[in-house]
Amino acid sequence: MKEPSLPKRFMQTLAICGLLWAAAWFWPVAESGASTVSKTVTLQLAAWKGQASIPLEIQGDWRVTNQQGNEILTGSHFKGRLSLDSAGANLGAWALPLSSFAIRPRGNHALRIGDRWYDGVLQVVLQSDQKTRLPSAFDLRLEIPLEDYVVGVLCGEMATSTSGTAEALQAQAIASRTYALWRLSKGRDFLRDDTTDQRYLGSDYHTKAAQNAVHATRDIVLTWQGDLLPAYFHADCAGHTVDAFDVDFVRKATPPLAGVPDPNCATRGQWSNHISASALDAIAANRGVGEWVQRVEAARRDGVGRWMQARITGNQGMLVLNADHLRTSFGTPSACWTEAEVMADGSFELRGRGYGHGVGMCQSGARDRARSGQSHIEILAHYYPGAEIESWLGLSQAR
Ligand SMILES: [Zn+2]
Repeated sequence: MKEPSLPKRFMQTLAICGLLWAAAWFWPVAESGASTVSKTVTLQLAAWKGQASIPLEIQGDWRVTNQQGNEILTGSHFKGRLSLDSAGANLGAWALPLSSFAIRPRGNHALRIGDRWYDGVLQVVLQSDQKTRLPSAFDLRLEIPLEDYVVGVLCGEMATSTSGTAEALQAQAIASRTYALWRLSKGRDFLRDDTTDQRYLGSDYHTKAAQNAVHATRDIVLTWQGDLLPAYFHADCAGHTVDAFDVDFVRKATPPLAGVPDPNCATRGQWSNHISASALDAIAANRGVGEWVQRVEAARRDGVGRWMQARITGNQGMLVLNADHLRTSFGTPSACWTEAEVMADGSFELRGRGYGHGVGMCQSGARDRARSGQSHIEILAHYYPGAEIESWLGLSQAR
């Protein structure tokens, strides 16, 4: 093909520049606005915190960067261990004498830590022994896009393959996204991958149903009076959700978290727990009421019989525990105890209903509502009455 003459090429270049200039002016604002913003979250892998040797596999090309973002090592495929010695970290045979670094695979689904595959960048932070000041353990954190995080949380927190529950999954995606952003807005710059925040499962657990629910609700969150709502959720409410203020989950009365009836849950989710005399004695000692427990009584119940406060009498004292402390101290599935009795042999018999702390959206009830034809908007309006549904991109605190 004949080359165009110089003046002709100059004119062509000028024409292309003019077109680009015009496109920049007339390109719709929305194209460069909200839909292109992506947020990355940092996720601490709780199971590996404190470990000094970690099985690791990386598929495809990868590189390691230091804290300043400079490349210090590159490779293709890796299968071995991330380990520690007195000089620092070792990635297989490569020594990495740094206090922190990032392993950056080229593609997604490329990191296997233990027996799970993950997306994203792996941030490796070395912890030191307080006495010797030598490296003693790893703290592993994944950097992943917010929306990918919500997919992993959906798969960790809810059954995603149950038929007829797509709207419940969308409601859960919005609740989980909101909870994550709310948690990050409260001073901590990372999330944990276990139930102390939200349970996150790696990329080999991700399902199409979860991806669809997250995609359909992209960027959407719940707010109350202009702020992110602490969008708590739980497995089964036993007939009525709990007032978050009543169990110290929020510092002031919050109408969207004040508790709502959920009649379908009133007759299911029954459980019983037997707590041995020695376990009960340990609770008495831990709680400072003596060497053994004499009585456990309801000090206050809510409308469905849930123990909102219990009076625990030991041989040397008495204390009152609120519902959520009760659940965690006695290791029961919920605080909705319906029968509780200290037996003659010193053991404790407990019966109850429901699963989880009972605050916010009830997943069992949400599934029922989705199957009966409710939309995710209707489901959220039931469990978080009065909350607004909007994009987090307009909220300064979530950025
Ligand atoms: Zn319920």
